[in-house]
Amino acid sequence: MIYRPRAVIIDGRLEEGLELEVEEGVICSLRSSSRKEEPYVISPAFVNGHSHMEYWNFRYTMSHFLRSLKEHSPDSPEGKPKDTDQAILSKSRRASNGATWAKWVQELQRLKAQESPQDSRTACFQAAQRQKLNGIAFVWEHSDRPGSAEAMKTAGLDGRVFQEVITFRERLNPLDKLELIRSKAETQARESGLPVTLNPHSLYLVDQETLSSLSSTQNLISIHFGESVWEELYLNEGRGIFAQWEEALGFKTEKKGLLLDFLDSLGLLRRGVQLVHCCVIDPFLVSKIADSGVSVCLCPVSNHSLECPIPPVRNLIDAGVPLSLGTDSAASGSFGDLRQEMAQLLLDTHSVDYQERAFFLTSGAAYNDSPDSVTTEEVWRIATEGGAEALGLSGWKIQEGNQVPLIAFQPEKLELESLIWPGEREEIQWVNEQRKPFSM
Ligand SMILES: [Zn+2]
Repeated sequence: MIYRPRAVIIDGRLEEGLELEVEEGVICSLRSSSRKEEPYVISPAFVNGHSHMEYWNFRYTMSHFLRSLKEHSPDSPEGKPKDTDQAILSKSRRASNGATWAKWVQELQRLKAQESPQDSRTACFQAAQRQKLNGIAFVWEHSDRPGSAEAMKTAGLDGRVFQEVITFRERLNPLDKLELIRSKAETQARESGLPVTLNPHSLYLVDQETLSSLSSTQNLISIHFGESVWEELYLNEGRGIFAQWEEALGFKTEKKGLLLDFLDSLGLLRRGVQLVHCCVIDPFLVSKIADSGVSVCLCPVSNHSLECPIPPVRNLIDAGVPLSLGTDSAASGSFGDLRQEMAQLLLDTHSVDYQERAFFLTSGAAYNDSPDSVTTEEVWRIATEGGAEALGLSGWKIQEGNQVPLIAFQPEKLELESLIWPGEREEIQWVNEQRKPFSM
């Protein structure tokens, strides 16, 4: 089959005057062409680095909950860190006291406890279908309750399932809980044929021994990291909402150290580990992250909905950290649409310069006064080729010899921006869904 599009997207750039020939999913030829073009643009399909399909049913309830939180009690006393936490807050560059996140995570637990297994399974099927319609081909799915692996298979989504390990309550004897999680993982693998591995949810919801043992397997790991200010308050200072939860369960809180140091001590600062969110990381520590070989998944819509700090995206890109984009879940405002994530990332990074500059100017710290925000091309690349590389996939690029899933758009104007912002949303078409078998 020969395609003569108006343009193809290579490394986030629109390239005109090319035609491509695809045979059995393989791009067997990419050559220049002067023949009449057809009115569409072809891109590699999207890659989703972080998803929780099981929360699809909570989209309306949570949206309403978050709206009413912001309208009525933005700074509720029990959710608010003390004034002395300003050092941590300013380090994270978008002022966030973590109050919204704290309320949200408790509401999520409440909703989860009320939902039947059948309803959460149905949610997974709807969310997986939505992702496919939105041009996503490959997903790193994070699953607590069963359903999403089979949903991915049914929707035709490739990827991997990270079966979430949470041992916050079971820390004294986590073996029974781990056995239960292992059996969920086996069921999911059987239902889907996809790779399913046990994965620590975060540094704050998993006991230290289990974290070390999961780290020692050298499996791929995708861990929530630095999403809110509470993690560092808990691990480094032994206080905040997680310490309060511990106290309520009768456990004593032990300080573990700074986030990145604790991660390192567990052997989790290494290639094959993806850090999801990274909102609360010091821009000055980005080089340490880059040197370690970890990748980072950004979830801009979720972070925006939950009023988390904006990650230092420019620093991460400049340091060469492999980045992917993730939709997180409908419980935090994301609808399985990477263009929604790209748009939010552009909004976030175009405002951060001003906040960042103001912070550095008032603090007197050294600051490279670069006007560079993240560009549309960079954002597109993170959602496609770059995201694929971050997840360990090769050949996710329009290039001769590659077998990469392809999607097409029909924009009125030939510019990348018009593919991202709302208005073109119905027009994604699948050109080629085939891909070489995943072999990691
Ligand atoms: Zn998540």
